Amino acid sequence: MPEVELGELPTLSKLNLELPPQDSRAVLAFRGGETAGKERVKNYFWQQDCLKVYKETRNGMLGANYSSKFSPWLALGCLSPRYIYKQVQEYEEQRVKNNSTYWLIFELLWRDYFRFICQKHGNKVFYKSGLQGVDIPWQEDWEKFRKWQEGLTGFPLVDANMRELLMTGFMSNRGRQNVASFLTKNLGINWQMGAEWFESLLIDYDVCSNWGNWNYTAGVGNDARGFRYFNIPKQAKDYDPEGKYVKHWLPELAKIPAAKIHEPGKLSPVEQKKFGVKIGVDYPQPMIDLWQSVKENEKIYNAALKPEVVRRKARKKF
Ligand SMILES: Cc1cc2nc3c(=O)[nH]c(=O)nc-3n(C[C@H](O)[C@H](O)[C@H](O)COP(=O)(O)OP(=O)(O)OC[C@H]3O[C@@H](n4cnc5c(N)ncnc54)[C@H](O)[C@@H]3O)c2cc1C
Repeated sequence: MPEVELGELPTLSKLNLELPPQDSRAVLAFRGGETAGKERVKNYFWQQDCLKVYKETRNGMLGANYSSKFSPWLALGCLSPRYIYKQVQEYEEQRVKNNSTYWLIFELLWRDYFRFICQKHGNKVFYKSGLQGVDIPWQEDWEKFRKWQEGLTGFPLVDANMRELLMTGFMSNRGRQNVASFLTKNLGINWQMGAEWFESLLIDYDVCSNWGNWNYTAGVGNDARGFRYFNIPKQAKDYDPEGKYVKHWLPELAKIPAAKIHEPGKLSPVEQKKFGVKIGVDYPQPMIDLWQSVKENEKIYNAALKPEVVRRKARKKF
C-alpha cells in the first residue's frame, strides 16, 4: 500500500474561523479532545471526589460538579463509556462503592438503551409520530416557538435553561426534561422542532440520546406512559429553592426574594417597583396559563392515542 501523507491539521485561523466567545457563566470551560476528557474524569472522580455523592447532586443545574459533564466527550468519541466504567470500578475498589457509583453506570446504560432503540427502530426515531406511531396534531406556531428558543416564555425555570443552552451549548438533564415538557405538554408544539433546536446547539449532541429522549418526553416513544408532564413551578421550587440558578441566567430578576422568584408574573406593581423589575417590559408576562394548557393538550393527546390503543389491543387478541 502506498504511504499516506498525513499532513498537518489546519488551524482555526487557516480556516478563517475564530474560537466562539466563552460565556463566563458556563458550567465548564469545555476543551475538546481525549486528553481534556480524561483530565475531567480524573478531576471529577479522583481530585474532587464527586463520584461518591453523584446520586444526591445529579439533579442540580448550577456549577461544574453537580454531574460529570462527560457528555460532550462521549458524544464526540473522545471518551469511551468502557473507560469510564473501568474508572468507576477502580474508584469502588480504592475509595467507596455506594448508590452513587452504581448510579453513574446506570445513567450510562440510558445512553446504551437509546442506541439499541435506534438500532431496533431505525428512522422511526425521527418521525413526528415517533416510535409509537401516534398521530398527534402538534402545532407549528413559530411565534410561540421563538419565545421558547430565546428564553422569553415568562417562566423563569424554562427561560434560564433556554438561555443557558443558547449562550453555552449545554443544559443539565433536569433542565432538558423541563423545557422539553413545557414545549410539548404546555405549548403543544411539534417536538421535532425542539429536537432540531437542541441538535443545532448542544455541544454534546448525540443522535440517539437527543432524538430518543425527545421521543420519550413528547410521549411518542415506545415506553411512553400516557400523558406525563412536568409541573414547572414545583420543579423550580424543588430543584432551585433559592432561585440561584434562575438568577444566574436572568439577572433582571436578581432582586426578587426566593419565595417569589419562580412566579414573577404574580408580582404586584408595588412589588415590581421594590424589586426593580417591570413585568411585561424587563421580563415577559407568562405566555400561557400552565394548568389550562396542560388540560387542553392532554385532551388532544388522549384523543390521538385512543384509536391507536384500541387497534393495538385488537391486534393482541388475534
Ligand atoms: C430532551 C433531551 C435531550 C437530550 N439530548 C442529549 C444529547 O443530545 N446528548 C447527550 O449526551 N445526552 C442528551 N440528553 C441526556 C442528558 O440530559 C445528558 O446526557 C446529560 O445532561 C449530560 O450531562 P452529564 O454528562 O453531566 O450527565 P451525567 O448525569 O453525569 O451522566 C453521565 C452520562 O450518562 C449519560 N446519560 C445521562 N442521562 C442520560 C439520558 N437521559 N439519556 C442518555 N444518556 C444519558 C450521558 O452519556 C452522560 O454523560 C438529553 C436529555 C433530554 C431530556
